[in-house]
Amino acid sequence: MKLFGSSGTRGVVGESLTPEFVLRVAKAAGTVWTADRVAIARDTRTTGEMFVNAATSGLASVGVDVDDLGVVPTPAAVRYCEDQSIPGVVITASHNPPEFNGVKLVGEDGVELSVDELERIEDHILTEEFDVAAWDEVGTCRSIDTANDDYREELLATVDREAIAEANLTIALDPGHGAGSLVTPDFLRELGCEVRTVNAQPDGHFPGRESEPVPENLRDLERLVRATDADLGIAHDGDADRAVFVDEHGDSISGEASLAALAAAFLEPGDATVSAVNVSQRLVDVCEEVGADLELTPIGATNLITRIRDLWRAGTNVPVAGEGNGGVFFPNYRLVRDGAYIAAKFLELVAERPASEVVAPYQDYFNVRINIEYTEEAELTAMLNAADEYATEADATPNTTDGYRLDYGDAWVLVRPSGTEPKVRIYAEGRSEERATELAEGAADALRSALDDL
Ligand code: MG
Repeated sequence: MKLFGSSGTRGVVGESLTPEFVLRVAKAAGTVWTADRVAIARDTRTTGEMFVNAATSGLASVGVDVDDLGVVPTPAAVRYCEDQSIPGVVITASHNPPEFNGVKLVGEDGVELSVDELERIEDHILTEEFDVAAWDEVGTCRSIDTANDDYREELLATVDREAIAEANLTIALDPGHGAGSLVTPDFLRELGCEVRTVNAQPDGHFPGRESEPVPENLRDLERLVRATDADLGIAHDGDADRAVFVDEHGDSISGEASLAALAAAFLEPGDATVSAVNVSQRLVDVCEEVGADLELTPIGATNLITRIRDLWRAGTNVPVAGEGNGGVFFPNYRLVRDGAYIAAKFLELVAERPASEVVAPYQDYFNVRINIEYTEEAELTAMLNAADEYATEADATPNTTDGYRLDYGDAWVLVRPSGTEPKVRIYAEGRSEERATELAEGAADALRSALDDL
C-alpha cells in the first residue's frame, strides 16, 4: 500500500493532505464500493468541514448519495455504517496535532477496510479510473443528526449499567477537545456517575492539551482527579477510539497496565487475545495465568483486526485484544476500538474496587530501550544478521513477526529497525530493572560486535 498506512492516510493540511486528494479518494471509493449510499463523519478539527465537502463532492460525482453525520467519535461513525449496512468515510487524524487531518475508510460491516480493499481503491486513485455519473445521476447529500444519540443509547444497553450506577462514582473526564466531548460526558452521567470535565468543549485548535492521551498531556486531568476527589480519570484521543485512565490518587495508569487489567477480567481459559509484537510482559503474564493464547501481529490496529478475523474463522473466542496505547478491542461487541466502551468496561472493574487496586498487579514492570544508529545499509544488514543468529541461539521463544522478539517467560527483548530513522531499536521488559537491562544489553552487545567485525 502506497497511500494508506496501518491507520488510514494522514498528513499536514495543505501540504501532504489536500482537498484534491480527498476528492480523489472519495471518487475511487465510490467507484469500487457497490453501495449507492455512504456515510461521512469527522472529528473536531478546523479543517474537517473542508474535507467533508471534498469527500461529499467526490462521492456525488460518481453517483453516490451521502449521509453527513457531522462531528462524531469514530466508533459512532462505524456503528452507523454497520447499522445501515453502508460504507463510510471518516475524516480524522486521531491523536495527531491540529495541523493534521486524515481519511479512514470503513466497510459496510462497520470495520476498517482490509488491506486488499484499500489496495483496490488505491489502484483507482492512481489510474484515475472513476465511474463518473451523468448530470442527472449525481448523488445527493442529507444531514443525519442522530448518530451520536443512537451510539450513546447502544452503549448504555451494552454495559453493566446497574453495577456502575450502584457504585456512585465520581469521574474526571478529559476528552481533549475531541469528538468524545459530544458523547462521553452525557454517557457517563446516564451511567449514574458524577462527572467533572476539563478540555471538554469541541475545539479543533486543541487549546487545552495535545490530542495524544499520554501521561505528559494529562496533567490537568490528574489535577482534576485530586481536586474533585474523583474515583477515576478518563481521557480520550481526538476521535475517541482510545481511553486511558488516571487512578483515584491522580496518578496516570499506563495503557499497558489497563489493557492487562481488562484482559485479566474478561479472558477465560481457552480464549485468545491479540496484541502487537511490542506487547508488555503484563499481558504475557495475564495470558499465562488465565490459560489464554496470546497472538502477536506487526504494530498497528489494522493488523490486529486482520488477525482477530482469522481467529474467528477458526472458531476461537477473542473477548479482548489491543495495544498498550489505550486502544482496546472488545471484538464480541464490535470489531472497532471504542473509547467510551473501553471506559465503561474499566468502570465495571472500578465499581468493585479502587482503580489503583485494579491495576496494582500490573504496576511493577520495567522497560529498557537502547538505540543503535547506523550510517550505511551494510551496517543494518550486519546487525539484522546478528539479531537473527542471536535469536536462533537464545534460550527463548522467538517471534519474527516484526523484527526479532525473544520471550524468556519472565521477560522479553525485541530488536527492530526503526521505520523512520537510521536506527535499530532494542526494547526489553521484565519484572526487575536488572533483568530488563541484562536482556537489552545482551542483544545490544551482539549487534555492536557485528558492527565491530565490519
Ligand atoms: Mg484515534
